[in-house]
Amino acid sequence: MSKVRVRFAPSPTGGLHLGGVRTVLFNYLFAKKQDGSFIVRVEDTDQSRYVEGAEKYIFDCLAWCGIAADESVIAGGPYAPYRQSERKDLYRQYAEKLVQDGNAYYAFDTPEEIETMREFLKTTGSGSLQYDHNSRSRMNNSLRLLPEETQALLNSGTPHVIRIKVNANETVQFTDMIRGDITVDTNNVDDKVLLKADGMPTYHLAVVVDDYLMKITHAFRGEEWVPSAPIHILLWKYLFGLHNMPHWAHLPLILKPDGNGKLSKRDGDRLGFPVYAMDWTDPKTGDTTKGFKELGFLPEAFLNMLAMLGWNPGTEQEIFSMDELIQSFSMDRVHTSGAKFDFEKAKWFNHEWIKKLSASTLAPLVTNTLAQKNLQITDNDYLVKVVDLVKERCTLLTDFYEQAGYFFKAPLTLDEAAVKPKWTTEKNNFFEEFIIRIVAAENFDSAAIETIFKELATEKNIKPGELQLPMRIMLVGAKFGPGVFDIATTIGKEQTIARIKTALEIFK
Ligand code: GLU
Repeated sequence: MSKVRVRFAPSPTGGLHLGGVRTVLFNYLFAKKQDGSFIVRVEDTDQSRYVEGAEKYIFDCLAWCGIAADESVIAGGPYAPYRQSERKDLYRQYAEKLVQDGNAYYAFDTPEEIETMREFLKTTGSGSLQYDHNSRSRMNNSLRLLPEETQALLNSGTPHVIRIKVNANETVQFTDMIRGDITVDTNNVDDKVLLKADGMPTYHLAVVVDDYLMKITHAFRGEEWVPSAPIHILLWKYLFGLHNMPHWAHLPLILKPDGNGKLSKRDGDRLGFPVYAMDWTDPKTGDTTKGFKELGFLPEAFLNMLAMLGWNPGTEQEIFSMDELIQSFSMDRVHTSGAKFDFEKAKWFNHEWIKKLSASTLAPLVTNTLAQKNLQITDNDYLVKVVDLVKERCTLLTDFYEQAGYFFKAPLTLDEAAVKPKWTTEKNNFFEEFIIRIVAAENFDSAAIETIFKELATEKNIKPGELQLPMRIMLVGAKFGPGVFDIATTIGKEQTIARIKTALEIFK
């Protein structure tokens, strides 16, 4: 069997939806499992939808996910260029061949003429309003015109497109790796434009020609492309006699949380969660749409969560590293039905991954997160200690600011209400004496501090439990955080004493 070659073929039209990243992931997992190649081809032939910066953004997202293409615009490769606009000249010959073989035709209709045709079809109550086997006989195309009329129009440079000629009363059949056999009646397929008036191919022509030239063995893409598949199969038949046609797989949609239709950017805005991999700023409007990365997701968690949307390993295991996914992945466990997106579950994956990764792995990411809040980290070893203490408490990377901030600077405010109603002179005296004892103590590790604390509490006849909350408020400012003695030993003796003194002034 020939070497597996798969492709992700994004159009640079905007932010990268999580469904797009999942398409990348399934392509990548399949390729890596079979020792194959993963190719990224930029499909930018529709100039009207082209968005400045979108291509770079897509590659940035892949880099964040740790997914490197074996061949791409960036990596290069034996089938370069990998950007379709740079392959423009190549497509016309295929379109012309289709015309010569009677499988496509020139169409000279203006947009107004096409509109008139639609209006006419409406009045006749015809089901389809498309340019197809039914309507084309009334239109201005080379199927209806005499050869010399067509030639004259071509010679005079009359704007024209090339359309595929889909025959009536045939069936197109193909096997989808997820959905099984799919059969389509050609009476429902319109004569799609293959080459536009500006000489650019449409997606339909370019995708088939490039999958052929780039020797793609498997074409995986979103379910929304099922309706286009018959056109692609017909082109494969007309151009290449179906020789080396890739195996197709149309991946299930990612659905809105309530299961009602495809998850859209608007759902994210409405329900308050991201649907893009990374922040995306529309260059025209300047509007930024939030991404998983900036919200504080780890790429490991993001990909793990996406893998489980539409695929299952057949076991109870939920947490998978990329290597484990590559080992476990198989197309026969990809579901046919759509997968509901669940933001709470996405956060659960992130929490699990924060717990799973070592503090030293997390530290550089936390450094960035804290820097965004103007907290500059100078001592990485200290940060690693802090991360180790608080990571269990963080669901998102952005949570580290709140959960770790007090390790770097004393709290600006204290939750006085949590302490003052039960504050007594005895408690005040306890902490004054506690300071004296820890000053004298040789050892300032967590166990030593706890022993001093508890012994003194017993001497003063106060329950240690009643003193721990005030101590926490003194060190943290609020009622959260890891063990209070762990905090004390981490921030150090000097800071601990300083914070207790400040708090005693306030609690008086
Ligand atoms: N360029 C298409 C897109 O933007 C790719 C579809 C395919 O993979 O065939 O999604």
